[in-house]
Amino acid sequence: MQKIVVENKAECKLITYSPAFTLVPTYECFNRCSYCNFRTAPYQDLWLTLDKAREILISLEGKGVTEILILSGEVHPHSKRRRDWFNLIYDLGELALSMGFFPHSNVGWLTYEEMSLLKVVNVSMGLMLEQLTPKLLDTVHRHAPTKIPELRLQQLQWAGELKIPFTTGVLLGIGELPEDRVNSLRAIALIHKKYKHIQEVILQPYAKGSQEDYLGENFSQKEMLKTLEIAREILPDDITIQVPPNLINDEKMLLKCLELGARDLGGIVPKDEVNPNYDHQNVEELKEILLKNGWQLKPRLPVYPQYYDQTF
Ligand code: SF4
Repeated sequence: MQKIVVENKAECKLITYSPAFTLVPTYECFNRCSYCNFRTAPYQDLWLTLDKAREILISLEGKGVTEILILSGEVHPHSKRRRDWFNLIYDLGELALSMGFFPHSNVGWLTYEEMSLLKVVNVSMGLMLEQLTPKLLDTVHRHAPTKIPELRLQQLQWAGELKIPFTTGVLLGIGELPEDRVNSLRAIALIHKKYKHIQEVILQPYAKGSQEDYLGENFSQKEMLKTLEIAREILPDDITIQVPPNLINDEKMLLKCLELGARDLGGIVPKDEVNPNYDHQNVEELKEILLKNGWQLKPRLPVYPQYYDQTF
């Protein structure tokens, strides 16, 4: 574990976050995951334009934002609009790069060719594995064709073949059993052992939003801590575990997560587009709380240092 010494000579442990801003090319998505608080139906959304994106990026200059998270709903792979959708995502990455930001795209299922093209305009990319159990195809993913577990695993594998520094994760509390979580985490560990490209794994507890159909309960703190303990055992040491502080939103709980091995708080953004009911805490306040408890919160890039040579 990396340690630093702060001015008061107290020894602090490091925890990281990414100062980020999210660009959403489109909220439209042909999948309909029942827990989704993000999507609009196909054709019901005006896509982001490059001019608007440029305006937003100019407004972010000098404000400490480094990561531009490009987060999108999915256009069907066979739709005539797929190419326009993909080109917009590519152009946003290129634009962000040209303005000195670090783009990280997480835009759902991609073909191998799309993934290889996007690699050029991203410093890292991401896709949640979510859960591997096919049971969810009968429940929360009944109307979500790109949530077929084999397709998700294939994305992780392609990212490895393409040497893309990759972020993935599991969604917790969407109807899976504890053993399903173990299987999902083991699958991530196995792929990483082969390609060494998974930089971080997000443990994302389900937290109820106001726009969804899913009738589940929030993932319990007890189960979250148990899962974290198991994840730290299963995942190789060079994979960082990330927990989203806005979904935990409890100081003691956050500190327990750190004690059990979480070392990153993810992108801290003005609006969590996936969980719009859960705002992030103020970073300075978070820093203070953590420092009082022996943790120093430091910014990081969306690509982890061990992949700098690969990316730059
Ligand atoms: S969770 Fe993602 S894939 Fe599922 S409907 Fe929402 S935007 Fe689409």
